[in-house]
Amino acid sequence: MKIDAYTFETYMERVREFHGYDAPGLAIGWFMIKVAYEHLPEEGLFDALCETPKCLPDAIQLLTPCTIGNGWLTIKNLGRYALTLYDKYKGNGIRVAIDPEKLEPWPEIKAWFFKLKEKETQNEELLIEEIKKAGTSICKIQHVRVKPEIMVKKHRDRFAVCPMCHESYPLADGPLCLGCQNPGLYEE
Ligand SMILES: [Zn+2]
Repeated sequence: MKIDAYTFETYMERVREFHGYDAPGLAIGWFMIKVAYEHLPEEGLFDALCETPKCLPDAIQLLTPCTIGNGWLTIKNLGRYALTLYDKYKGNGIRVAIDPEKLEPWPEIKAWFFKLKEKETQNEELLIEEIKKAGTSICKIQHVRVKPEIMVKKHRDRFAVCPMCHESYPLADGPLCLGCQNPGLYEE
C-alpha cells in the first residue's frame, strides 16, 4: 500500500513533478485512494478502473502500483470523477466517487468541481485547504463487482509486420495495422 509511504505534502510535491502543477483533482485523488484502501482487504492484488481520463489516472499512478503502461490501470471515459480498486482475479472491489450533496459545506470545492468559476478567479490555495479539511467526507463509497469483460485481460497477441507501413502490429487487428486501416493520426 504505497499511500502510507507519503504524507499529503510529499505526495503533492511528487504531483508537481509528475503532473506539472499541484492540481486540485490530484489532491482529491489522494483522499479517494486512501478511502478505497481503507475498505479493501490488506492482502490481495488490486487493479484500478478510472471513469475519467482527467487528473485522477495520475493520482492512481502515483499512489498505487497500477499504471497505464503495466496494464493494471484501465480508463473508461464515462465523464465521472470516480475510481475503483478491485481484486484482479475476482473483480470485487471498492468504487469511490465524489458525492455532490456532500460538497455543500465546501464552496471552493463545489465551484471547482462544477466549473462554476473561471480558472483565473479560483483561489487555488483556499481550494487545496478545503480539500484537505474535507478529506474523505466528500466521497461516496460503494462495494462493486467489475464485469469480467472489463477486467484486464493478460493474453499476449501474436504480432505481424503490416504490409503497408512495415511496422509490427497485433495480427488479430486484421490484414493491416489499425493505423493503416483508419484515417490515421497525422497529416499527409
Ligand atoms: Zn500499417
